Amino acid sequence: MTPHRVLVAGAGPVGLVAAAALAAEGIPVLVIEAERDLPDGLRASTFHPPTLDMLQRFGVVEAMVEQGLVCPTWQFRDRAAGPVATFDHAMIAGDTGHPYRLQCEQWRLTRLLRDRLAADPQVEFLYDARAAEVAQDSDGVTLTVERPDGTREPLRGAWLVGADGARSAVRKSLGIGFEGETIPELYLTLSTPFPFHDHVEELTNIAYISDPDEWFVLLRTASLWRVLLPTDANEPEEYMLSDARIEERMQQVLPTAAPYEIRHRTAYRVHERVADRYVAGRVLLAGDAAHVNNPLGGMGMNGGIHDALNLAEKLAQVWRGADPALLGRYERQRQKVAREVVQQQALRNRALLNQKDPATRQAFLDDLRATADDPARHRAHLLRTSMIQSLRDLEAVA
Ligand SMILES: Cc1cc2nc3c(=O)[nH]c(=O)nc-3n(C[C@H](O)[C@H](O)[C@H](O)COP(=O)(O)OP(=O)(O)OC[C@H]3O[C@@H](n4cnc5c(N)ncnc54)[C@H](O)[C@@H]3O)c2cc1C
Repeated sequence: MTPHRVLVAGAGPVGLVAAAALAAEGIPVLVIEAERDLPDGLRASTFHPPTLDMLQRFGVVEAMVEQGLVCPTWQFRDRAAGPVATFDHAMIAGDTGHPYRLQCEQWRLTRLLRDRLAADPQVEFLYDARAAEVAQDSDGVTLTVERPDGTREPLRGAWLVGADGARSAVRKSLGIGFEGETIPELYLTLSTPFPFHDHVEELTNIAYISDPDEWFVLLRTASLWRVLLPTDANEPEEYMLSDARIEERMQQVLPTAAPYEIRHRTAYRVHERVADRYVAGRVLLAGDAAHVNNPLGGMGMNGGIHDALNLAEKLAQVWRGADPALLGRYERQRQKVAREVVQQQALRNRALLNQKDPATRQAFLDDLRATADDPARHRAHLLRTSMIQSLRDLEAVA
């Protein structure tokens, strides 16, 4: 007999939020993770207001706020001229219980959720189990996982949530297309204890710095500053990540008398892609498995968490006997957000930062300045960039 549980492939932020939301509905869940433990690499660190509103129900936000950095404002700057526009979440205080961006590394959320779920007897974890192949019938799903010694094991569940990241084996096993484009430059993320806030005038904790030759992003976390730099994909990785090259890049960001202390360095390729389908029978894709975009604006993980909650709410109803056609609405709503909001906004953010044509660039900057100066436009801009608007708009999607 098919166990009535839901299988969740991937213990990233999206898989664990889906698991927590399903467990809260009384649904048994088996979380399957390829690694021996939860990954702790330096990846997303921005939580937007509605995501914090959603996470509140799991009792993790207080600890995230304690471990993270509350950022009520963020800024767009011109590298040469300084601040262009500073946006203040106080303008949307009536729209969210968390009128700020929280800078908190994603591994902190996954650990907090895992600790919470570990106390729930309905939730099981299986580590060192890499999802490899999916088969399904009218009754349930069989997910074959591969163990580190090469042995394979079939796992059975009523439904499968594929939250196994951008290279999703679940998506590939079902042959679901993942069309889109690859951004030509690589993104280099460095972190340093250097206090940029003491050296750059009027700097907010999140700053996008536009420049026709080399734009960059500065993000402050509780203990470090992160610097995101576009990087020529033709530079050999060994050179790109070498101490000497990184020091040279950092001196271009801000010259200092002493060399920078670098705590983390990662270079990664960025794609803009959306899966053709989010729902295939009893298998549902969410998060990076369903869509990827550039990190400008911090919408990848946030959008993935929004997927997880939308999906869990509908799946819980279906699990209790509602028509599975309800899941089609999950796909229509969240695919529309990925295609029409997240991808478009992320591409626009990149175009704003790296615009080379002086007249177009000036027009972009003038428009941003005017947006910040006009209270109604300022508020509308924040509703969009914080992703509140995308959540409101999808209510209209049948
Ligand atoms: C190097 C890097 C840096 C990034 N930096 C930023 C950033 O600065 N800002 C930003 O907004 N976004 C960033 N992102 C994107 C952001 O991290 C993702 O949008 C977010 O992690 C999506 O969450 P997810 O749970 O869908 O997928 P993931 O976080 O990728 O989680 C997937 C989980 O599934 C596991 N897994 C993978 N394959 C399998 C399998 N076959 N079977 C079982 N488990 C599997 C993985 O180990 C992982 O635990 C970055 C991504 C990368 C790769």
